[in-house]
Amino acid sequence: MIVPLASEAEWTSVWTTATSWQPPDKPSLVIVPHPDDETLAVGGFIATQVAKGLPVKIVAVTDGENAYGGETNLGTVRRAEQMAALKRLGVNADDVARLQLTDSGIAFHENALVERLLPLVTRETHILAPWTGDFHPDHEACGRAAVQVAERTGAALTFYFFWTWHRGVPALLRDLPLRSLSLHPDQLRAKEEALSNHRSQLEHPSGEPILPDYLLWPARRPLEVFLSI
Ligand SMILES: [Zn+2]
Repeated sequence: MIVPLASEAEWTSVWTTATSWQPPDKPSLVIVPHPDDETLAVGGFIATQVAKGLPVKIVAVTDGENAYGGETNLGTVRRAEQMAALKRLGVNADDVARLQLTDSGIAFHENALVERLLPLVTRETHILAPWTGDFHPDHEACGRAAVQVAERTGAALTFYFFWTWHRGVPALLRDLPLRSLSLHPDQLRAKEEALSNHRSQLEHPSGEPILPDYLLWPARRPLEVFLSI
């Protein structure tokens, strides 16, 4: 069981001071370590850009097959959950690149990840990736790979957060140049409905789900928080 180190009231003091942000009108490439991250951390961004008619492509790095600690291979289930969630966020199946790297093992394939990302990125791409300090080895590896790809291509890079909200403390982010994207009610609804597709994470056949309700509050804020570098 994960006990968040700081309450939402404490985090509020951080994100209310973030600078209001309008994402650039560029094609986005969203790097997603596990099915559900596309919704939890960046679903509002995706829905917002799609609503503006801007191209959004997703790189699904793993299928999240080891979410139950390897006792059951969840890959097929979670792929379907993610595709349903992305559909609700407005992303076509053709715009999802599925890499099928090993869940919980991305750091061992970081160079391979860089090589697979490079052909998908140009100087005009806006890359979204988990923060390099997001308190999950897979998220951090994706963030590091994104830094390399951005440096080699000249693409813009923006980080998103998820596990930081539960495993981090506000002092970590307080001095960083955070950006907040306010979400329109239509995008908030799309995000909530997208989230409901991730049933394998919201329920567990024999106990505590991976994402109990008390871990979902960051995903239910009326805004999303980002860090542009
Ligand atoms: Zn994840």
